[in-house]
Amino acid sequence: MMTVVAIDLGATNLRAALFKGEQVVKVQRTRTPRTSGSELIEAMISLARSVSEGEKVDAIGIASIGPLDIRKGMLLWAPNLGYGNVPMRDAVGQELKAPTYLTNDALAGAWAEKVLGQGRNISDLAYITMSTGLGVGAVVDGNLLVGRRGNAHELGHSVINFDSELPCGCGGVGHWEAHVGGKNIPHVAQELSRQWKGQSTKAYELALEGKLGPEQLYSSAREGDAFAQWMVDYLNKAHAAGIMTVIAAYDPEVIFIGGSIYLYNEDLIRPGVIKYLQKFVGVFGVPDIRKCSFGDDQVLYGAAAIAFSPPPAIARDAYRP
Ligand SMILES: [Zn+2]
Repeated sequence: MMTVVAIDLGATNLRAALFKGEQVVKVQRTRTPRTSGSELIEAMISLARSVSEGEKVDAIGIASIGPLDIRKGMLLWAPNLGYGNVPMRDAVGQELKAPTYLTNDALAGAWAEKVLGQGRNISDLAYITMSTGLGVGAVVDGNLLVGRRGNAHELGHSVINFDSELPCGCGGVGHWEAHVGGKNIPHVAQELSRQWKGQSTKAYELALEGKLGPEQLYSSAREGDAFAQWMVDYLNKAHAAGIMTVIAAYDPEVIFIGGSIYLYNEDLIRPGVIKYLQKFVGVFGVPDIRKCSFGDDQVLYGAAAIAFSPPPAIARDAYRP
């Protein structure tokens, strides 16, 4: 039974867990430092030491926001943190004296399904995270697709509407993430409120002011607010368009979906997405769409999964003491 440290670096929280076999025995978290890369490395080392105190660690997995350069073991740039060029993989590995593997969070989410989740016996699967942004990871023919520097399948930036002027965090327009990313939803709501021909509602008033966030949107839709229901339907259509690209690219048997927006609103998202997919997919058919196996801990399990069973493309450049 392997003992591994899993580290989940998010834009808001930094978490570390000790896994013994598939069991989580200890978890600790802190706010992700917003000051500098060196403070981030210090925080990672301190959390990793704290969860693994007195244990012999066989391997460490780090799953991080990106973009990354996994060949060099670096976080290249974190748009939400305001710093970059952080050589975290080797710094953590040297301190804990264990092989250390780095991958991005969406890839980790996909690998979590393959190694530890419902995807163990599935060769072709995709993972989609719907939260602040939109991330995709895929396992094809049993292999995690990784890419040149670890940033493969940034499908959140596929164009789902070429007539749209909706700006995306990446600088482009009309992207899947620009339409559905939690961070962009207030702006999308404001744009949509201009096309609304129904009566004024509570959600509509908030949308006009640019104040309709994802939580309020979905709870209003659940309470029967007509504008919110119309907007949720629009977002489901946008998701279905994006998911069609995932289907065309990877031919998955199952698509696992996670991220806070999906996890808390599956009842409103899944049926609508399937309804529009049926229209988009043609001969490809609608794959099995399921909630991911580990909820809010999907990325943490993904970090553990790459430490337990590193895919060749990640193992190649891992840190080894
Ligand atoms: Zn984009």
